[in-house]
Amino acid sequence: MATATRIGQGFDLHRLVPGLPLMLGGLPVPWDKGSQGHSDGDVILHALCDALLGAAGLGDIGDWFPPSDPQWKGASSDRFVMTVVSLLKDRHWSIVNVDVTVMLEAPKLGELKSLMKVHIAQMLGLPTDCVSIKAKTMEGLGPIGQSEAVAATVVALLKETVAS
Ligand code: MG
Repeated sequence: MATATRIGQGFDLHRLVPGLPLMLGGLPVPWDKGSQGHSDGDVILHALCDALLGAAGLGDIGDWFPPSDPQWKGASSDRFVMTVVSLLKDRHWSIVNVDVTVMLEAPKLGELKSLMKVHIAQMLGLPTDCVSIKAKTMEGLGPIGQSEAVAATVVALLKETVAS
């Protein structure tokens, strides 16, 4: 019997502002600028939610967690991811793998990428080798290159958990 697979992609960008905390992949990143946003502004987790929702045909993060709703003000984006995981499970989708590219000029993420992988894999219930995190600079060009913004793209693959 055939089992369906679905692919989804997500993108997010937030403005970087001096003095705000920088959250990426669910972890605080020591830096002198942070993401401006209604929640904690974690571009990796927001793009991840959109990739997962997109693969399942469930709309986007703004549909489920609208900025107009005060309960999401300052919210940890882990809550968004855990809610999306639950939505997928209810609809008989399991996650195969996710592939993240984060775009920021500084700081270098170094070993933080490995810690983010572990954190995201735990939230998604995946082995760590099913979560990939890659970091790119913009070679000093444009708003990301000038450290005025941080962005992320995510591709996610789902498979049906019941045979169709
Ligand atoms: Mg966002």
